[in-house]
Amino acid sequence: MQLSIVIPLLNEEESLQELYNWIVKVLRSNSFSYEIIFIDDGSTDNSWKIIQQIAAEDEAVKGIKFNRNYGKSQALHVGFDKAQGDVIITMDADLQDNPEEIPELYQLITTEGYDLISGWKKKRYDSVLSKNLPSKLFNAAARKTSGLKLHDFNCGLKAYKKAVIKNIDVYGEMHRYIPVLAKNAGYSKINEKVVQHQARKYGKTKFGVERFINGFLDLITIWFLSKFGKRPMHLFGALGILMFFFGLLAAAWIGGSKLYKLYHGEASILVTDNPWFYISLVTMIIGTLFFLTGFLGELILRSSREKDRYRISQTTGQF
Ligand code: UDP
Ligand code: MG
Repeated sequence: MQLSIVIPLLNEEESLQELYNWIVKVLRSNSFSYEIIFIDDGSTDNSWKIIQQIAAEDEAVKGIKFNRNYGKSQALHVGFDKAQGDVIITMDADLQDNPEEIPELYQLITTEGYDLISGWKKKRYDSVLSKNLPSKLFNAAARKTSGLKLHDFNCGLKAYKKAVIKNIDVYGEMHRYIPVLAKNAGYSKINEKVVQHQARKYGKTKFGVERFINGFLDLITIWFLSKFGKRPMHLFGALGILMFFFGLLAAAWIGGSKLYKLYHGEASILVTDNPWFYISLVTMIIGTLFFLTGFLGELILRSSREKDRYRISQTTGQF
């Protein structure tokens, strides 16, 4: 099978039939072999009924329904798990992504050999203040921390080589950073393609402004995980030792100068009268905590599942 179209959705009853018709028109006119996987992320409207109807008439259509809303990342996770095509294309269900892009995305993966092509909504039809501006900031931060030169990390329209989606683990709200996850898993042929974007035709957006706060927190997590996920002690241990010795030095200085003054018969002041005493104390305590955090991190790492330690891409010879 050439193509798997993976579509996560939440309460998109008005769009589904129209979206399906459009996708199928494009796929058939290019004579692709394909499957379409709808993942209903706990809709409370008629979305699932519509998916069942479509699937009853077209055996290339498959549907999965969550028993409650788990989030777009979880929907993509199960979609990726089930997808069988050589190329996987994800798109939003709200008709904002244009199915006409599919053939070109497919070409980029198969003939150009890219691992991942991310859509870039260069001309965007969303509200300027609540989305376009924060999204520019957010993408700049993601570019900076990941080293990937993409303009639009969070675009719902993306194409993947099969191996990529089988080797990444989209969880939490990490759908915003799939290109980063792919890069961390060793798939570095990543590029973008300018895609057509439409204003939302029906319904309304499922993400509020909290997306940006969560988005930035996730960015920090992903940066940390990719850099120190397998060696937490290198971050926390270094920080801890640095802080501890800074505190120790300051304390020694305070103690030393007190002894010096005593020796020279100056009127002694209490070490606790010196504000630096408290600063050095706190610094030593925090340093010790950092150090312990590093140790705990290493312990947790040792006892966690072995499965994710590395990924083998090829083998040769008989084992
Ligand atoms: N979506 C989902 N689960 C959620 C939220 C959204 O599956 O918890 C789907 C939604 O139905 C749509 C896609 O994710 O197909 C993108 O969502 P939306 O259009 O609301 O995001 P926006 O375009 O505003 O960024
Ligand atoms: Mg949308």
